[in-house]
Amino acid sequence: MATPAPARLTVLSGPSGVGKGTVIAEVRRRHPEVWVSVSVTTRRPRPGEVDGVHYHFVDDAEFDRLIENDGLLEWAEYAGNRYGTPATPVRMRLARGLPALLEIELQGARQVRTRSPEAQLVFLAPPSWAELVNRLTGRGSEAPAVQERRLALAQAELDAAGEFDVVVVNDDVARAADELVGLLTAPAPGLHQG
Ligand code: 5GP
Repeated sequence: MATPAPARLTVLSGPSGVGKGTVIAEVRRRHPEVWVSVSVTTRRPRPGEVDGVHYHFVDDAEFDRLIENDGLLEWAEYAGNRYGTPATPVRMRLARGLPALLEIELQGARQVRTRSPEAQLVFLAPPSWAELVNRLTGRGSEAPAVQERRLALAQAELDAAGEFDVVVVNDDVARAADELVGLLTAPAPGLHQG
């Protein structure tokens, strides 16, 4: 009898503005059982963001402490703020044989690739560059200088799509969310036992 494949760590990455947050929100709406890591950040909350739900908002000293205590699975500086994945909740999920999903930027995805080669790296791509520019500038929550910085980063991030195991195109949020959920529960190549 086939043994189920071990649970996997899945990383969703992609350029800022591509809609990672929107796709994850749709995944949660349709599949409340899907577990998504809540990151730690030194960024200030945007209007409507709730501490402990969207992020754990911390100051620089607290972030330093987390790094020193080996409390982060990965972390990166992005557009002037630091972001990291708390290690313990993810390790506990995987130890219990349950899948875990991270929504992180490219540098963090590369760290996960190095530390956990069995992790599945998924790249969320925009339908086109014009669409990405539209989404990034249309969000309206950031100053023009911040938007420009994020666009430059996004261009570099798009070039990295080839490093990922799977590319999901965010042409339709519901479709992209379904595709992602399918990947979360798909057996890991080379890891399943028959
Ligand atoms: P935002 O400020 O728009 O919420 O996030 C900026 C970028 O940081 C996004 O690309 C988001 O995916 C990424 N990010 C969020 N949490 C983490 C994390 O824990 N680690 C890393 N490396 N990136 C993160």
